[in-house]
Amino acid sequence: MMNEASGGARLVIAIDGPAAAGKGTLARRLAEHYGLAFLDTGALYRAVGLAMLRAGLDPDDPRAAEEVARKLDLSLMEDPDLRGMKAGEAASKVARHAGVRAALLDFQRAFAYERNPNGAVLDGRDIGTVVLPEADVKLFVTASPEVRAKRRFEELRAQGRDVAYEEVLAAVRERDARDMNRAEAPLRPAEDAHLLDTSELDICAAFRAAREIIDARARAKTGGRA
Ligand code: C5P
Repeated sequence: MMNEASGGARLVIAIDGPAAAGKGTLARRLAEHYGLAFLDTGALYRAVGLAMLRAGLDPDDPRAAEEVARKLDLSLMEDPDLRGMKAGEAASKVARHAGVRAALLDFQRAFAYERNPNGAVLDGRDIGTVVLPEADVKLFVTASPEVRAKRRFEELRAQGRDVAYEEVLAAVRERDARDMNRAEAPLRPAEDAHLLDTSELDICAAFRAAREIIDARARAKTGGRA
């Protein structure tokens, strides 16, 4: 399918931001709207984390984590435990290891370019800065820690998980600190990223704002033909 915004030209969209900022929902909707493939790169790190927990390995062990990442069982991407807080925590630990990031890099780049010639939407933490520095559009989606914790709390409760808001807020803050302060590919906006703060926006408003940015960029790319 040709994507409609770019007049058939390839469109590669990078979406980054902290945990629970709404970037996953936004990225999925954008992929559907533009007829592009979608990759949730956080799920790759979660799959590595979950595989380690299940094997009784320590996510802080760089060698063991790299080994798991190199032989990653992609069926874990569909596992119901992937979305739990334990997998999220293990993901942010294994994501600090350079060897793990290197093991997952080629898969992500191939997804955006070779495997999907029309282009793709990838969401994560370092897509605009490291994985796809040449992406056509980069969005950095944020929201305050309190708003993000409230959204994650409601999501977890809706899944029937027994958690307290304070616990979720503490986990959000801890994960932010780990993601932003790590040496390897820390979470930060690329210089050419568009910032989208969703603290005051619902998903429809965020989707509209993102589309405006992408459509303007796609028009510029095709010299106004789209
Ligand atoms: O987005 P999600 O919460 O599923 O990501 C889980 C963890 O994976 C993040 O906290 C982050 O540490 C790591 N991650 C990353 N780089 C990405 C995507 C996720 O380091 N591109």
